[in-house]
Amino acid sequence: MKNSYSNIYTFNEKILNKLINSLKNGGVAGLPTETVYGLGGNAYLKKSVEKIFQLKGRPKNNPLIIHYHNLNDAKNDIEINNCLVNLYRKFCPGPITFILNRKMKSKIHPSACAKLNTVAVRFPKHRIVRTLLKKIKFPLAMPSANKSSGVSPVSPKDVFEEFKGKLKLIINGGTCKIGIESTVIDLTGTPQILRPGIIDKILIEKSLKLKVLYNFKNKKIISPGMMKKHYSPGIPVLINQTKHDGKSAFIYLGYNHKYKNSFFSLSKKSNLKEAATNLYRIFRLIKRKGYKKIQICKIPNTGPGIAINDRIRRASKF
Ligand code: AMP
Ligand code: MG
Repeated sequence: MKNSYSNIYTFNEKILNKLINSLKNGGVAGLPTETVYGLGGNAYLKKSVEKIFQLKGRPKNNPLIIHYHNLNDAKNDIEINNCLVNLYRKFCPGPITFILNRKMKSKIHPSACAKLNTVAVRFPKHRIVRTLLKKIKFPLAMPSANKSSGVSPVSPKDVFEEFKGKLKLIINGGTCKIGIESTVIDLTGTPQILRPGIIDKILIEKSLKLKVLYNFKNKKIISPGMMKKHYSPGIPVLINQTKHDGKSAFIYLGYNHKYKNSFFSLSKKSNLKEAATNLYRIFRLIKRKGYKKIQICKIPNTGPGIAINDRIRRASKF
């Protein structure tokens, strides 16, 4: 059944079959994951991969994350190592992406990996995308379902607003539970985090019993998606703000300004995980309300706060 927003479909057997047919033949679709909504296509087909880059307006040198149902499905495409097995057992399916060396015999279309000899792989947890991945015989190349450098979508309506009639198939999987993108960790050498997420450095180090490096503030861009300007709501964002300027939207933690106009709390309980979940929804809400600028208070740089600070710092490079 189609929802009131055209192109958004409720997930059922009939839509699953339609989806599988479309993906087999090079179509792309807006799909729910636990992190953000993705724009998914058959990772083995040139046609699908090209469509993803074109719809997003994504630079060709920014590779896509490849999504699988389980590690066994990925074994012909990537070199599996001990760190991967350890983190896979602990956190997968879940919001973590691994950079690994690509196998020579891998069938992933080279442009999905920006012609690099590495592949980014993820095993998403959302029930709908797992049902789909279990049924198909190919992995999904799937970046976030938004125009390049913008805010990731966390609801099917967000995806519709990004692409309107250009994306014919969007599956309704509700609002994303996590709300920000996966942690990205490079496992081709000494493990290093390229993008912070909800699964943080401390959790990863505990699991690996190893020191893990951070590499998302480095000047040198080793992963193209580490570009400074990203996650931008399309209006100026000012971070570490202490005083409301009287006209901008002000994002904060807690409940002090509950009844005041222009104040938006990321989490009434100042819970950083909840704050991460609400960040992009509130960015979009503010934009829709017509504000011209966003001020954000200082966010504690611990746990999920590290991921929030990474996103808002990049969003502020307007
Ligand atoms: P996005 O698709 O916007 O969620 O971003 C995916 C992230 O993974 C970006 O930072 C990409 O640059 C990174 N990435 C994807 N594939 C690779 C790869 N093969 N090697 C290194 N980084 C990658
Ligand atoms: Mg993205």
